[in-house]
Amino acid sequence: MKKAALFLSLLVVIAFISYQLVADDITVYSSIDISDINPSNTKNTAYPQGTADVDNSDSYSEPVTTATSTPAHTPTPTSAPEPSSTSVPVTPSPSPTSGLDSEPVSSPSPSPEDAVAAEPPANNISREEALNVIPLEYQQLNYFYPDNAARYVGYKNMNPDFDYEKVIVYVNIGLDLPFYTNINTITETNRIDVLVNKYNKLPDNFVPQLEQLPDLLCAPGMGNQYLRKEAKEAFEKMHYDAKTLGLNITAYGTYRSIELQHNIWNSKVQSGRTIADVDSLNSRGGHSEHHTGLAVDVIRNNYTVEDSAEFKWYKDNAHHYGFIIRYPNGKENITGYAYEPWHLRYLGPELATEVYNSGLTFEEYYAKMIVK
Ligand SMILES: [Zn+2]
Repeated sequence: MKKAALFLSLLVVIAFISYQLVADDITVYSSIDISDINPSNTKNTAYPQGTADVDNSDSYSEPVTTATSTPAHTPTPTSAPEPSSTSVPVTPSPSPTSGLDSEPVSSPSPSPEDAVAAEPPANNISREEALNVIPLEYQQLNYFYPDNAARYVGYKNMNPDFDYEKVIVYVNIGLDLPFYTNINTITETNRIDVLVNKYNKLPDNFVPQLEQLPDLLCAPGMGNQYLRKEAKEAFEKMHYDAKTLGLNITAYGTYRSIELQHNIWNSKVQSGRTIADVDSLNSRGGHSEHHTGLAVDVIRNNYTVEDSAEFKWYKDNAHHYGFIIRYPNGKENITGYAYEPWHLRYLGPELATEVYNSGLTFEEYYAKMIVK
């Protein structure tokens, strides 16, 4: 009896994972070299306390030493469709045909051995020396952090063409260090403006409060879709407003659990692609915006979406509903991701409009305008 129940729940979990494996951010991918993505590829920038979390050679599984240390901030979901719970969306595996890498991976395994190991940056200038070097006008910026002074100077030395404002913003983002190093585990996980990227990860046990989208709003064959309440309601409003213009904006991919994200990343790497290539479009576990319940891939996750009338409309209207195109074209060096015209992130109408009007990536906007 018990065995049968156990077997059944196992089947349910496997079915869920199988169908979700295709709900990834990529059916078309480019071979972007991640080494071009980080503007500095810095190996020796001065960084005051950068010795702890800088080995990312196994970061697909345990990227951060603090990753499990913040359970107190995790909400207790009552209706979240986490695969391991009994409220799993048990849609039959729709086996869509569009996914490139739809074969499930049985075990999240091998460590990316060729991942670049971050070296502890050389601390070649003191904070005080750095403060003497940086022009005072920049030290008055409200996003200037004296504790980062040595890093600012180190990054400026490596990028003499950047003005100090850009240097300060980029260092605040973390760009003076390689992606997936110096990782911060997010504590205020439920903030609508939460920044999740290659330097900021959600706790391993984080599950947002989710609501299911009506089937009519979902892309065919992609199974049930879930978003946080705020994002779901905004998406519905956008969908129906667009519908009056003859447009059909559907949800192709929404919430993803950390386990699923781990599995997707591993399956991409196991399919023979380089880690740099996989990292350009797929997040490592805990680093995906889809984990927040605030991100939605719309219509289909390949570049043909740009040819749609829907795209031409939502690229300049989504912010009114609270969504931004999170990974803009030409900003890969900042966001860490290739251009994804299909990936929308909910920020709320006010903030989304500000970000849209600023022309900045969310990383830049966050580093300048959203105080830590
Ligand atoms: Zn996405």
